[in-house]
Amino acid sequence: MKLCDGIHLAGSGFDGFYLTDRIDCNVYVFETSEGWAMIDAGAGRYPELIIDILQSDGIAPSDVRYLLLTHAHGDHMGGAAYFKQRLGLSVIASEAEAGIALRAIEQEMGLDVAKDVGFYPLEYKAAPVATDRMVSVGESFFLGGVGLTCFDARGHSPGGLCYLLHKNGKTALFTGDLIRHGGLISLQDVPGNNLEGHKDSIAGLVGMGVDIFLPGHGLVSMQGGQKHIELAARELGIA
Ligand SMILES: [Zn+2]
Repeated sequence: MKLCDGIHLAGSGFDGFYLTDRIDCNVYVFETSEGWAMIDAGAGRYPELIIDILQSDGIAPSDVRYLLLTHAHGDHMGGAAYFKQRLGLSVIASEAEAGIALRAIEQEMGLDVAKDVGFYPLEYKAAPVATDRMVSVGESFFLGGVGLTCFDARGHSPGGLCYLLHKNGKTALFTGDLIRHGGLISLQDVPGNNLEGHKDSIAGLVGMGVDIFLPGHGLVSMQGGQKHIELAARELGIA
């Protein structure tokens, strides 16, 4: 589903646009001069549905060269091993989340808790995946001529990142699960999830002037995206 020139939504679950598997996060792809880069991989139960959307959007799956993980919860990283193997893409993540994705231990990923509350079926397993490139908070880098900057998303998970994309004079922020549409946050009883971390991370995003707001679940905003960050900050008493 094309969102704008060079950014498509290729997967989404029941709490969003429901394009693919029920438990998939929002899976985005953006265009670079070296092909496409994917943001998060979905849960990995039906990754071929994401392939189908790429194809129907006119994007050759083999042109997807990178996968950036915001964090290593199952609904975001579970499909990573499939895409790495099938497409030969490079996986990019923070060091902390790369370790969690490689070990894929249920308790460390909060998967046991998320199964208890019924988000995942009991038989769900997230396949481990090796990260090819570690990035860290404050780091800026280029993928095929497209500039990206990493921002802290700790508070939702131990080492989560938001990725800020600079494209055609506009910015797009992939927030992972740090902030949802309307400034909502999700406090969960899983490792690395806490209110103080949310406050610290969201404080780092205040006043940035984000144009396009692309969260890991639910609705997106194609203009005025900063509003969602400021709503969260106000609610948390940090702006
Ligand atoms: Zn998450």
